[in-house]
Amino acid sequence: MLIDGHGRRVNYLRVSVTERCNFRCQYCMPEKPFSWVPQENLLSFEELFKFIKIAIDEGVDKIRLTGGEPLLRQDLDRFVRMIHDYKPDIDLALTTNGYLLTETAESLRAAGLKRLNISLDSLKPAVAAQIAQKNVLGKVLAGIDKAREVGLKVKINMVPLKGINDGEILDILEYCRERGMRVRFIEYMENSHANEEIRGMHGREILERIKERYTIHRLGREGASPSYNYKIEENGYIFGLIDPHKHDFCESCNRIRLTAEGHLIPCLYFDEARSIAEAVRAGDVDAAAEILAEVLRDKPKENRWSETENEGSNRAFYETGG
Ligand code: SAM
Ligand code: SF4
Repeated sequence: MLIDGHGRRVNYLRVSVTERCNFRCQYCMPEKPFSWVPQENLLSFEELFKFIKIAIDEGVDKIRLTGGEPLLRQDLDRFVRMIHDYKPDIDLALTTNGYLLTETAESLRAAGLKRLNISLDSLKPAVAAQIAQKNVLGKVLAGIDKAREVGLKVKINMVPLKGINDGEILDILEYCRERGMRVRFIEYMENSHANEEIRGMHGREILERIKERYTIHRLGREGASPSYNYKIEENGYIFGLIDPHKHDFCESCNRIRLTAEGHLIPCLYFDEARSIAEAVRAGDVDAAAEILAEVLRDKPKENRWSETENEGSNRAFYETGG
């Protein structure tokens, strides 16, 4: 079992398989980065898998593949199958912008993927295009339909932004409710890569919008998930709110992150990371396991937002996978 230096059980590994993306979301990667990580620095699926096996053997039972846009990484279904075949009962999920799902959902499902989180910030083509800086909505909605059709369980992520899509919180909620999908509203998290003009909505403001139509009751956290669940009295629908600006966000943190070039990141809001690249490339399982133990020992107690007045993180969300 993996326990960090503050006594929290860590059983969740998020793996960013690429930092590249086919969208340019204003809150994440508004411009193409000055340079991408060189191709030769990326760990292969086999190398990533060497670390994943260690993590699973030590007690990780939940893995999420993310990015950048994970569906840009060629043959992702092969990677999904490697993980699934090693531990078929693992909770294996993927976070995607949905753009390439019409082409990939079927093979991902066949490879053993069970769940998907899909980002959907607007149901209006022009607003979706304003946020992603590309005409994306038609393909994303078709991707959501395809994923559901092949039997993948879908959750939707929305980041409400002031003056852009804040008027669509109830529309997205109804779209998800009608389809039996859970939606999770995510507070915009300040970071130095985002468009400076972007202003997010506070969790409290998001709830106010929903209260304009419904009576809602807070249910509490779903396990160690950062999402708080709320139930709508009128129809029983449950939605989630992820509000990392609140202090208790870190108390039940159960996760660590691995990037495509092998950086093991203990906390999204700290710049520290340790590389397991050399160890896995050399096939040195003991060295990789030792780095994992050290990263856990040094995992910060809480994120730095409270200290820095929301200055935010310098690390890009597209690098860590959010
Ligand atoms: N490209 C995929 C996608 O968009 O779903 C996966 C990677 S993306 C970095 C993962 C999640 O992080 C998405 O749901 C996205 O909305 C969220 N995200 C990115 N930047 C964010 C920010 N500044 N604040 C809050 N959420 C953010
Ligand atoms: Fe790409 Fe996802 Fe970031 Fe949007 S949020 S730019 S889709 S990585």
